[in-house]
Amino acid sequence: MGNPKGFIQIARKVAGYRPLNERTSDFGEVEQTLNEQDRKDQASRCMDCGVPFCQWGCPVMNNMPEWQDAIYRGDWKNAVDLLHVTNNFPEFTGRICPAPCENACTLNIHNEPVTIRENEAAAAEKAFEQGFIIPKPPLTRSGLKVAVVGSGPSGLACADLLNKWGHTVTVFEKDDAIGGLLRYGIPDFKLNKRVIDRRLDILQDEGLMFKTNTHVGIDIKGTDLLQEHDAVCLTIGAMKPRELSVEGSGLAGIHLAMDFLTQQNRINRGQRIPENERILATGKNVVVIGGGDTGSDCVGTSIRQGALSVKQIEILPRPSESRKSDNPWPYWANILRSSSSHEEGCERSWSLSTKRCIGENGAIKQLEVVEVDWVNDNGRMTMIEKPGTGRKIEADLVLLAMGFVHCIHEGLAAELGLEFDGRGNIKVGRNFQTSKPGVFAAGDATTGASLVVRAIFQGRSLAKAVDNYLKKKE
Ligand SMILES: Cc1cc2nc3c(=O)[nH]c(=O)nc-3n(C[C@H](O)[C@H](O)[C@H](O)COP(=O)(O)OP(=O)(O)OC[C@H]3O[C@@H](n4cnc5c(N)ncnc54)[C@H](O)[C@@H]3O)c2cc1C
Ligand code: SF4
Repeated sequence: MGNPKGFIQIARKVAGYRPLNERTSDFGEVEQTLNEQDRKDQASRCMDCGVPFCQWGCPVMNNMPEWQDAIYRGDWKNAVDLLHVTNNFPEFTGRICPAPCENACTLNIHNEPVTIRENEAAAAEKAFEQGFIIPKPPLTRSGLKVAVVGSGPSGLACADLLNKWGHTVTVFEKDDAIGGLLRYGIPDFKLNKRVIDRRLDILQDEGLMFKTNTHVGIDIKGTDLLQEHDAVCLTIGAMKPRELSVEGSGLAGIHLAMDFLTQQNRINRGQRIPENERILATGKNVVVIGGGDTGSDCVGTSIRQGALSVKQIEILPRPSESRKSDNPWPYWANILRSSSSHEEGCERSWSLSTKRCIGENGAIKQLEVVEVDWVNDNGRMTMIEKPGTGRKIEADLVLLAMGFVHCIHEGLAAELGLEFDGRGNIKVGRNFQTSKPGVFAAGDATTGASLVVRAIFQGRSLAKAVDNYLKKKE
């Protein structure tokens, strides 16, 4: 702990976003960076608490006090080495993690937590800039082969560790590029894709192999993969979207959020989308159904495409501005959060249920909605429509961002005859083993849709379980 008075002398300072009128005309990252001295000052605010609640709050259990001190001292190599002990990709989480660590930071008791997430991104960026993150291929190989299916953060974290430990690992991906939702989901204005490519170059130089455009279960059979490898890891995500089942939901102009977001990611990559397949918000009244992160990403993307108006509606009630008494520190605060996209010009409404999609000449024109109340019925929250509150909202483009139900069951999971849990996720035991011997699974596919940092933690835990399994085979 370099400066024992840092938290008293220095106020929390965040880098903030690029000016609004500048950032909404491009897909560059919205977040700015602090200068080096400010960043060191921010790291010096860490109190090095006896019990680091921030570490408890972080799903990968990053050791905050140690690397805050390294940043304060300007020892960027040590900072990133400490981060890499628990997190394969601090440059991803440093950009897009919702930072439960900051919710748990002791300084958050009075709403001034250490800027842990930004510090993490800064440590990773400085380390890349100064050449401290370089390929470190394993010195020996075990001769054992592992297939990882799915190249999102959980698959990459798992594959990275198993490769570093000397196993021969191939990552199979159905898309044309590696990264999962980091690549074709999260918008470029939150995560520049060059950040992914830079890390992939290192992983490849370390001997990790990637096979894109390979849909396992369709292009190759899962059972063949299992025969050719000593273990198969499934990190296939939770891609089955929750759909809107009301009258008119099949009208033209109503699309799944992921179809819309993926198209924009592809265009930013220089790919062409045929005109007749293009989903564009330009000049349209856009309504995003779903108040979460995916919905917020649709808002930011619609604004950049030049929408006439953007509304985001949510069925759940508006969260409170500050913590309620039953949601104390150091837990994740269930409060109202606004993203950079919300600031860019979006009208948000809560407690609105969609009743009907109204069309004209086969295309969406209006949404009929009604206000709802949520009442506690013996511990179960129940939704009740408020009489006389029905209304219509103009809509030329409706984006469905109501979450994901579970992984895709058809194809690979069905072919391997995997068991699912009560929610439809792939069922695994404590050692990440599925119901099929030799086949393991982790990430959103087993937990349901979650966060990048949780997917990384899952991937790391999966790697340890598979390594133990392989050691018994050696
Ligand atoms: C729009 C959006 C924005 C988000 N924003 C954030 C955010 O800001 N911060 C955050 O922490 N989290 C965010 N999330 C959540 C986060 O992206 C996911 O929790 C995380 O990516 C899950 O990682 P995963 O590795 O389990 O699966 P995924 O990232 O979903 O990757 C699964 C991969 O498996 C591939 N695959 C599936 N089946 C097969 C098969 N049979 N053969 C070959 N390949 C296959 C898929 O193509 C995909 O590439 C967001 C999610 C969405 C949808
Ligand atoms: S990974 Fe997320 S929770 Fe963990 S230290 Fe980084 S920002 Fe905080």
